[in-house]
Amino acid sequence: MSKPSHPKKELSYVMIKPDGIQRSLVGEIIKRIERTGLKIIALKMFVPTEEQCWTHYNKDDAWFTSKGERTVEFRKKSGLPVEKEAIEYGKDIVRALIKYMTSGPVVGFVVEGNSSVTVVKKLVGGTEPATSDVGTIRGDYTIDTYSICDVDGRAVRNLIHCTDGDQTEAQREIAIWFKPEEITNYRLVQEEILYDVDLDGILE
Ligand code: ATP
Ligand code: MG
Repeated sequence: MSKPSHPKKELSYVMIKPDGIQRSLVGEIIKRIERTGLKIIALKMFVPTEEQCWTHYNKDDAWFTSKGERTVEFRKKSGLPVEKEAIEYGKDIVRALIKYMTSGPVVGFVVEGNSSVTVVKKLVGGTEPATSDVGTIRGDYTIDTYSICDVDGRAVRNLIHCTDGDQTEAQREIAIWFKPEEITNYRLVQEEILYDVDLDGILE
């Protein structure tokens, strides 16, 4: 499915990463997303498998190379030896990412609502927490940087994942983590005020 039947049906997959659980931020993070009016239609805690993570983070050579080039730049600037091609440094990042993602429980959930992908991305903020905007989840609740990760050879700990793509990508991610019967289609009463064309029934 590439397009939702109506804009209010747009889906996004969200996952509070192991550091989000360990920092006791589950409630805080869900609150920020829930209060926008987006509807949670599935939610669970689990420990991701390596295989699920490799499928989820299906990065291509262009991604490995562009990430690795940044690492090469950093190593040159810091006087560290550059021992391999940029693409290999990029692949190291995903290996470190999978180690991080499988280190403990995560909370995965599916949200539905108008422009859910854009709205959740806006709340989540940029990849590197120390430079994510103030007011975003990553910017407000943690401090990690690419540079400390390069020094220590680990993945950026940024609390949360959200879908970054079209509805085909959202559906692809959701299918990795949820069975169809774990997703509940239901109506929230507040959807009337968010979406109904005629706001009948308010005035007495
Ligand atoms: P996510 O896909 O997890 O929502 P994102 O879309 O902001 O995050 P991506 O570029 O897709 O970022 O990278 C996936 C994850 O890999 C990041 O969230 C981060 O944990 C890790 N990561 C990305 N780039 C680096 C890097 N240069 N060094 C270390 N870790 C990185
Ligand atoms: Mg991403």
